[in-house]
Amino acid sequence: MRTITRHNLFIILDHLLYQIETTMFPGRPSLGDTTPVAMPLYQSAVYAIPDLDTLDSIIDQGDPGFVYARDAHPNGLALANALQEMHQSAWSCTTGSGMGAISCGIMSCVKSGHQILASKHLYGRTTQLLKSELIRYGVQTNFIDFQDLEAVAIALKTKPKLLIIETISNPLLHVPKMQVFIAMAQSVGCRVLVDNTFATPELCKPLKLGADLVMESLTKMISGHSDVTLGVLFGNDPSLGKQAKTICSVYGFSGNPFECWLTLRSLPTFEIRQQRAMENAHRLAEWFCFQPKVQRVIYPGLKDHPDHETSKELFGVFFGTMLTIELKPATRQAVDQFIRAKDAVAFAPSLGDVHTTVSYPDLTSHRYESVESKQDQGITQGLVRISTGIESLEIIKAKFTQMLAAID
Ligand SMILES: *Cc1c(COP(=O)(O)O)cnc(C)c1O
Repeated sequence: MRTITRHNLFIILDHLLYQIETTMFPGRPSLGDTTPVAMPLYQSAVYAIPDLDTLDSIIDQGDPGFVYARDAHPNGLALANALQEMHQSAWSCTTGSGMGAISCGIMSCVKSGHQILASKHLYGRTTQLLKSELIRYGVQTNFIDFQDLEAVAIALKTKPKLLIIETISNPLLHVPKMQVFIAMAQSVGCRVLVDNTFATPELCKPLKLGADLVMESLTKMISGHSDVTLGVLFGNDPSLGKQAKTICSVYGFSGNPFECWLTLRSLPTFEIRQQRAMENAHRLAEWFCFQPKVQRVIYPGLKDHPDHETSKELFGVFFGTMLTIELKPATRQAVDQFIRAKDAVAFAPSLGDVHTTVSYPDLTSHRYESVESKQDQGITQGLVRISTGIESLEIIKAKFTQMLAAID
């Protein structure tokens, strides 16, 4: 695939503006020699093409221009260019949601009869996709605890085609030894797909560690304002990229212009938001350790976290924007009092907003898991997951002080 640089993106845009002005809307004011400072929104599903040779050159040679928005559009291309810089990837596919990116990644690597090896602690919908959907197409998944290296080594002997892990797991924030697993998988010809949503490229760039595919739910911290649903899949292998792009178009996974436009608008502030939210998370985790109504604080940045050393090696000095606490008493009633407190932070089963939010894994992300499975993982009724925002730490602490005080 041909890479489109910023420079020729502007040429494409000029070309398009010219076409729109002259062919489609003769009454539209000309921009003359001026250029919009902000990326314009090209809310167009289809493009008018001047002649058949141009059509051929766009489709066959990848020359500048667009045909149909499900295949490509200017806002998607502008976003892809910017996102690829973040992960330093050769290609990317922007999808209508994070789940679209995971589906696209999986379908690019497996076919009927193949086996997948996945972490037991994946995002709930990903587990559901593997367990209930892909099985219908003859793709079977083996779920393994990635804390258990030996179990992974044994499972790899059955020659799976794809290994799926998350950089930081939900809600216990496990951090698997990514480099070790990538090396183990690739030594038996198994590709690796990493869901990097909790970490973001600010903390970890799995492609640089050798992963074949990386996805981010842009819905979360990268867009950051809870007003977008979008995902992206990254990779370096050109043949995998070609496959992923075809799947994106044919299955209809592509992201639409407006969501891409909104996300592009969020990118210049992403690094600042992520840094600030990570600092808040770390200080808040330390603060929770001294609160009598909190009996457990789970944060990879704390020394007592089982994966603290792995996290330090992988991330450096920051540990993400997610933390999990267990209330005292660890009951549904205590959690209900906590979220119903006056001026509480929003109870919203997502993450990555500019505002701090809390979620309740027992009834949201892990709602459909059996009691035994939840017990097995350590997900109790008192567990609350927190996604820190960019408010001042004092405001966040004041809210949590009130929320903890509301517990009997
Ligand atoms: C939210 C999320 C997804 C799915 O992303 P959507 O944009 O909601 O489809 C996948 N993985 C993780 C870890 C997530 O948090």
